[in-house]
Amino acid sequence: MRAPVVQPRLATSLTCLGVGDGLLSATRGHAAFVYRFGGTQLLVDCGEPAASSLCRGGWQAEDLAAVFISHLHFDHVGGLLTLLQAQGLAPRHRPLPVYLPRVGIPPLRTLMQAGCMGSLPTPLALSLEALRVGRAVRVGEVTVAARHSTHLEVMCGGTSGNGRFTEAFSFLLEGAGRRVAHSADLGGMEDLAGLVEGPLDLLVCELSHLEPAAVWKVLAGRPIRRVVFVHLSATQWRARRVLRSEARRALRPMRVEIPEDGVRVAF
Ligand SMILES: [Zn+2]
Ligand SMILES: [Zn+2]
Repeated sequence: MRAPVVQPRLATSLTCLGVGDGLLSATRGHAAFVYRFGGTQLLVDCGEPAASSLCRGGWQAEDLAAVFISHLHFDHVGGLLTLLQAQGLAPRHRPLPVYLPRVGIPPLRTLMQAGCMGSLPTPLALSLEALRVGRAVRVGEVTVAARHSTHLEVMCGGTSGNGRFTEAFSFLLEGAGRRVAHSADLGGMEDLAGLVEGPLDLLVCELSHLEPAAVWKVLAGRPIRRVVFVHLSATQWRARRVLRSEARRALRPMRVEIPEDGVRVAF
């Protein structure tokens, strides 16, 4: 009998739970990514079906140190309620901080109350924290800094009033001697250029709201060791092999991948 394949536990790694965009897909989940920095694991974005993908991948309730939500498009936050209920039922014994745009906190609290989450056998110690540009958050061995993204300002065309409903963030994650930029959804090339200042061990970059050729131009020649492109539109996904070849040519010597769901990348 063949021995089961055991994946090595990588000291610093990204697991892509969902590389899809906002459209439904039979093969790609919505945005959800687990980062491991030594003993600290974080979930960045929680699109459907993040909770069952975590379960399938062998994660336990206690494994995640925190959750970061980049913005409130449902392909980034649609799986959060299921994840929170699952954490409460598991049960999880240590608090779970969730960092998200401020405007999302009151409705999330209301939904948790309406779902009687406080009456679970072991109520989840949940702390909902507003993300703020310029205030880095320390979680275990990782420091996470939120960067401003104009994604929702561009998409909402300034119709949402006071900027309250247009908060969107990218993230800079530093820990275990590594520096990682995670774009989440961007509003344009200026957002990307601001995010990739300084050397990076890994850049996780969305493509669906950007023109790929312009992305190669912004990234070429920068001190980035590895680039993972995610959140491709359906058209881009069909052409992913061509896009990957173009990117590899344009971005040499960076390592470039366009992973499927479930792929784990060491960095
Ligand atoms: Zn999205
Ligand atoms: Zn979005």
